[in-house]
Amino acid sequence: MISFLDLKAINAQYKKELLEACETVIDSGWYIQGTQCSKFEEEFAKFCGAKYCIGVANGLDALTLIIRGYKEIGVLENGDEVIVPANTYIASILAISQNNLTPILVEPQLDTLLIDSSKIEDKITKKTKAIMVVHLYGQTCEMDEIYKLAKKYNLKVIEDSAQSHGAFYKDRRCGTLGDASGFSFYPGKNLGALGDAGAVTTDDKKLADTIKALKNYGSHKKYENKYKGVNSRLDELQASLLRVKLRYLEQEITNRKDIASFYIQNIKNSAITLPIVETDSVWHLFIIKVKRRDELQKYLLDNNIQTLIHYPIPPHQQEAYQEWNKLSFPITEKIHKEVLSLPISGLQSIEDTQQIVRVINEFN
Ligand SMILES: *Cc1c(COP(=O)(O)O)cnc(C)c1O
Repeated sequence: MISFLDLKAINAQYKKELLEACETVIDSGWYIQGTQCSKFEEEFAKFCGAKYCIGVANGLDALTLIIRGYKEIGVLENGDEVIVPANTYIASILAISQNNLTPILVEPQLDTLLIDSSKIEDKITKKTKAIMVVHLYGQTCEMDEIYKLAKKYNLKVIEDSAQSHGAFYKDRRCGTLGDASGFSFYPGKNLGALGDAGAVTTDDKKLADTIKALKNYGSHKKYENKYKGVNSRLDELQASLLRVKLRYLEQEITNRKDIASFYIQNIKNSAITLPIVETDSVWHLFIIKVKRRDELQKYLLDNNIQTLIHYPIPPHQQEAYQEWNKLSFPITEKIHKEVLSLPISGLQSIEDTQQIVRVINEFN
């Protein structure tokens, strides 16, 4: 069986260094808010090209704390509207509604699957205060178009970079393409911890300082609490493991790009639409579109190839957002019916990739 993502094999590559990192932390006797976290923050900020990085407990918290931070410094307030793509993982939207702001869903482009910037302006009202772009599947959004609108209407730009560590837009990496950016290091992400972890990057010192306090009970000084904060810290163990894996992220991206271009050059089947990527992509997911999606998925499984669907149900059709269940987002709905994610990872062998291509090309 060719598995979708073999996390055990991925981490086995670095096992010796990961164990050494664990040992360093165990022997240090210091497990929260120590040097591993601050060093990782420094290294990840440098990797992205951002001034500040704040380690937090997970990707959802990173996004939630950005909005909470903006509320604390008076940039956003309850009831403000935030533009967000309808085709995204639900976490992007939860971060907005958890803060008592209103997510305003915008359709994606059918070809790139990313937010359609030409459809944003129609949705802007007096209450609109921010755009959350989601660099979905490893691609980056059309930031020039987004910034034109952000400038015109004085909006903050928040990036959901959970799937796109290292992806470029022009000469800058995501994490520096908006006013603030949220990252996830969920184990299956391109830069994955061995548990939950996340981070915020920004060049805004005031926001960075606020989030630093918010994630630690709202405490800016030991035993002094400026805000009613939360506990969302990146622990020393996960930070030390992420420092090891960050050293190999460039290689991971290169390998994923090689697999993606092999797929693109060699998959030849008129039933299948290959991904159309107009910006850089770090290929967190390799998404094909196919009308007979469930049939293809079963056929691949019968041929020992595991695939996944990202995602089967769009946020506006989830029970959690019943208030949106009657709304219609035809492009988003079509995408959710047709997408299929092929196996891709920095470790996937050329033989496996060739085998996947061969089987797909024989599907009819
Ligand atoms: C994974 C992911 C998140 C949330 O990250 P967690 O670490 O699981 O909380 C947010 N947005 C997108 C697009 C994601 O893929």
